[in-house]
Amino acid sequence: MPENAYDRLNAKLKHAHMLGTVSGLLGWDELVNLPADSSDQRQEQSAAMAQVCHKASTDPKIDELLTDLESKQIQLNDDQRVVIREARKEYRRSAKLPTEFLQRKARLDSEAYHAWADAKKNSDFSRFAPYLQRQLDSSREFAGYLGWAKNPYDCLIDQHDPGMNAATIAGLFEELKIELVPIVNLILASEKKQDPSIFKGFPIAEQEEFLKEITASLGFNYNRGRIDVSLHPFCSGNGADTRMTTRFDEDNPLDSLFSSIHETGHGLYEQGLPLDQLHNALGEAAGMGAHESQSRLWENQVCRSRSFWKCYEPILRARFKKQLADIPSDDLYLAINAVSRNPVRVDSDEVTYNLHVIIRFEIERRLFDGSLSVKELPDAWNALYKELLDIDPKNDAEGVLQDVHWSDGSFGYFPSYCLGNMLAAQLWYAALDQLPGLEDDFEKGDFSRLLDWLRDKVHRHGKRYYLKVLAVSATGQPLSPKPLIRYLKDRYIPLYT
Ligand code: ZN
Repeated sequence: MPENAYDRLNAKLKHAHMLGTVSGLLGWDELVNLPADSSDQRQEQSAAMAQVCHKASTDPKIDELLTDLESKQIQLNDDQRVVIREARKEYRRSAKLPTEFLQRKARLDSEAYHAWADAKKNSDFSRFAPYLQRQLDSSREFAGYLGWAKNPYDCLIDQHDPGMNAATIAGLFEELKIELVPIVNLILASEKKQDPSIFKGFPIAEQEEFLKEITASLGFNYNRGRIDVSLHPFCSGNGADTRMTTRFDEDNPLDSLFSSIHETGHGLYEQGLPLDQLHNALGEAAGMGAHESQSRLWENQVCRSRSFWKCYEPILRARFKKQLADIPSDDLYLAINAVSRNPVRVDSDEVTYNLHVIIRFEIERRLFDGSLSVKELPDAWNALYKELLDIDPKNDAEGVLQDVHWSDGSFGYFPSYCLGNMLAAQLWYAALDQLPGLEDDFEKGDFSRLLDWLRDKVHRHGKRYYLKVLAVSATGQPLSPKPLIRYLKDRYIPLYT
């Protein structure tokens, strides 16, 4: 039995965390291994675990220990204060949400997901509209329980990126949008183009070996993690056991490669968090935006660069001699950095991607401030796509119904993707500045200096700093879209003009 209150608190947090990891494994297994007709039992297993986890994280002992530790008599160091601050926040959150609401929400999520899938299949928004309305109401109710009734959207953003709010994001996105639209137009007007459909017949086993070679050389520890196949790539687990997934297509090797690298960026962050603190805030990522900054930095700034491909193009060509025989080097590099007017966010490139996110943020904001109704949503969606990307989605499936996020009420999540892109570019220039000759390392297949730098500036701090503070502490500058604009210009303008 640990003696002092801080150790006793950590023992409680560890118990809750371990139960959470079991729950997480069930979720991973569901998406990777579960036989088709076994999902009923899995739903019951998951629901049973959710109950056990909720009980552990709302144990009144945690509250008592936190109250003790928060009293002035106990001396605490900075690390301990971070753990207590976050444990209090988490406890309050869990304890304030009535069980009845959580059960109702779980049922709604399941119903709304199926309604969304059906609506998307039939490309008919009206089938999903009533569920979306219920999810909006449910999100307002959620915010109310947590004491954010007046700013429900800020509450939801704060769940993904603590310390962020809609007004701050609107300012950052507006600045980005003004600069980005002309860059997109310039690139799309270029004569130089290369469609990734030039790739044909890449055997899956070979693709898998190649991507494992790359992700291991980036620094992913396969003794504490693995990569499997799922419908949509993701990364789950923690630094002690990191589970990544990818998907394969013989005619689209870049999709598999870059989504694996993306998930590896998430995995490297998890594996860089202090292993002995995984159960508390010191071993937890700073937020979604910070997480996405890591995946994007490796995926885009590093692995789409010339220096990276100087090392890996010969290796790729040796593996896929026949498939690449007629594809010159310049075409290969252009395909790796292809930009196109794609109506679908997940299929879009890193240049236009940010506009897809800005559109969703704008819509969510208006849904929550009451200036847009669910009924008006498809028209508003299409109008924004026309305005920012000159795209006319050909139906609801390709337009407003394309993303799964709103079906489970994940409002306030989209902005994190773009905030992550901003931080990634900001970290990139700070690293280039502080690590002379960094890109020469990449030409030799050596990424250790960059990884060590990220470990030091980002990973080891866990949730000590929220996104805005993390940006300043890691780069010396406040979070800004300027480095992202600079990066997109540096990388893409020479390529397309
Ligand atoms: Zn990601």
